[in-house]
Amino acid sequence: MASTQSSEEHPEPAGVADPSPLIWLGGGLPPRFRWVSPALLQALGHPLEAWKSRGFVSQLVHPEDLHGLLEAWGAVSRTGVPRALELHGVSAEGRPVRLAVELNAVEPSPDGAGELIGTVRLLAPPLQPEAPEPTASSLDEMFREITRTQRMHEELIDAIDGIVWETDANFRFTFVSKQAERILGYPIPQWLEEPDFWLKHLHPEDRDWASAYCMKSARECRAHEFEYRMVAANGSSVWLRDIVTVVSEKGVPRQLRGIMVDVTAQRRAREDLEQSVSLLRATLESTADGVIVLQQDWYVTAINKRFQKLWSIPEALLDCRDGRVLSEHMRSQLENAEQVHERTQQLLASSEQEGVDVLRLRDGRVLERYSRPQRLGDTIIGRVWTYRDVTVERRAQAESERLLREAREAVRVRDDFLSIASHELKTPLTPLKLHLQVLKHRMASGQPVPAQHVDKALAQVARLSGLINDLLDTSRIQAGRLELRHEPVSLGALTQEVLADLRSVSPHRLLEYEEPAGPLLIQGDRGRLAQVLVNLLENALKYSPTGGTIRVRVERDGAQARVSVSDSGIGIPPDQKDHLFERFFRARNAPISGFGGLGLGLYICRDIVERHGGRIWVESEVGHGSTFHFTLPLLEDEASATPPETAPHPR
Ligand code: ADP
Repeated sequence: MASTQSSEEHPEPAGVADPSPLIWLGGGLPPRFRWVSPALLQALGHPLEAWKSRGFVSQLVHPEDLHGLLEAWGAVSRTGVPRALELHGVSAEGRPVRLAVELNAVEPSPDGAGELIGTVRLLAPPLQPEAPEPTASSLDEMFREITRTQRMHEELIDAIDGIVWETDANFRFTFVSKQAERILGYPIPQWLEEPDFWLKHLHPEDRDWASAYCMKSARECRAHEFEYRMVAANGSSVWLRDIVTVVSEKGVPRQLRGIMVDVTAQRRAREDLEQSVSLLRATLESTADGVIVLQQDWYVTAINKRFQKLWSIPEALLDCRDGRVLSEHMRSQLENAEQVHERTQQLLASSEQEGVDVLRLRDGRVLERYSRPQRLGDTIIGRVWTYRDVTVERRAQAESERLLREAREAVRVRDDFLSIASHELKTPLTPLKLHLQVLKHRMASGQPVPAQHVDKALAQVARLSGLINDLLDTSRIQAGRLELRHEPVSLGALTQEVLADLRSVSPHRLLEYEEPAGPLLIQGDRGRLAQVLVNLLENALKYSPTGGTIRVRVERDGAQARVSVSDSGIGIPPDQKDHLFERFFRARNAPISGFGGLGLGLYICRDIVERHGGRIWVESEVGHGSTFHFTLPLLEDEASATPPETAPHPR
């Protein structure tokens, strides 16, 4: 059996059996009737309980038409667009009947389970052809019933939260439900009397397109649905969703019917929402941090440009919106990838947890990652990950920590120096004072003055002036004012002179000298180079307290002259060797109480040697002695001369 969109396309069937309106009210899927007009009960004979029972439609309607009815029921309930059907049915006595059914939605519902209201007309053959002539009382009864049913119908229509309307083909209203007055504020008669009421009260911005659209749809006899604004009686704009069906006859539109629902609140909510979303989007983009929001299943809900830039993410990777793919891309850039991965897993496992982590990238950047769960009400729906580039801050922090360490170290060195210096400067004063007192006493009493007292006093003065000279040299070096002379110096001859002087003051120590084959001329400051030699030799003597031979060797080493001073003394701990040439440095092997000294000699030596274009270093083994070497560039003539075959020989 055929079902049609619009019953009015079919002319009124001949032989209508029952002119009284047979009305029903129902809803839900599968369909159930909730109320049936007494006329309809009577017409088909089924009791009300049967109509209300589950599955009654399948008893009432022929199986062939059942599917069509169910489909129409669902569609009307969902869309609100009325439908009309012709069906084969069966009366309570089992007699076949033909029914014309009209379905209207009281309120559409997206799940297809909304309220429906409809009418039924009995088509030929008449169900009760032998029905007796109506009497006056039965006509009265029928009239009352019709009035009651009509009232109920009107009440139902007025109860619909929207304007139920009907117009002729020229858009002139022939019917509007009472809600019209409430929603737009114009009295109902105005709707019906003004020929172009709808057009006139359309919002000026919507008038052209809305009227054109509706006219076109009407011309094409097409049901349609659209949203536009009307201007209410109080001047406000009201958003209406209009669901329209076109009643046509032989392809010509005759009437329009529909329902206008006030959707102003939804529109405003939607506009507010759109505004909030765009505000959020702008906020997300304006932050200096890279942000990504992931759902529990790793779907990327939001991401900002900064994030994309921080991690150099190509557009193609973004398009897939898969957090796992992005995570792999990021992982390849991480220096501490394993550690970060573990931490990420841990955060994902405990959905409530928040965390701050530091990410080191292979390109040297340092990022701080902040992660917290994203909630919708009480439910956790994902996680927000924020990345901040803290490379500059971290570097500045490391630099300031380094400076602080250095400052502390400098303070410590200064304090150590003050304590050492005061000790060192005081040490020679006591014996000096003693010797001078002895000398004074002797002179006062006319006794002869022993030369050894004078020598010893002079030795202490020499020691004092040595310390003071070292201090002066150090401050000159610091101020860049240590001046050097530049003259040719024979290193061999200079070493011999220094050794001769030393032998005279330390006659009991063994000093061996391996002299070079030639004079080994260099350009430099004789006095300062002698100072270097003296310093190394005095250290060799000082730090080999149990005696042992001191060896000095001067030799040619390519274009350099090399001087080495070896002792068999206490040696130097390996970790201290690099620091020996620093200012005020005294190795652990020379505690303040054991060996005197300010820790300045080697510092001055290094400065002098380096300013001559040379290098100074030490080889040493704790407990087995040390060898200090320094090299100096030979004068050009000397350097280009062929080195003699003969090896240096000891003296
Ligand atoms: P100081 O006045 O302390 O001797 P130096 O600058 O000459 O200052 O030497 C620095 C430190 O190097 C000494 O305190 C000592 O610990 C170590 N040192 C120098 N020469 C020797 C050496 N020949 N044997 C062992 N240690 C040495």
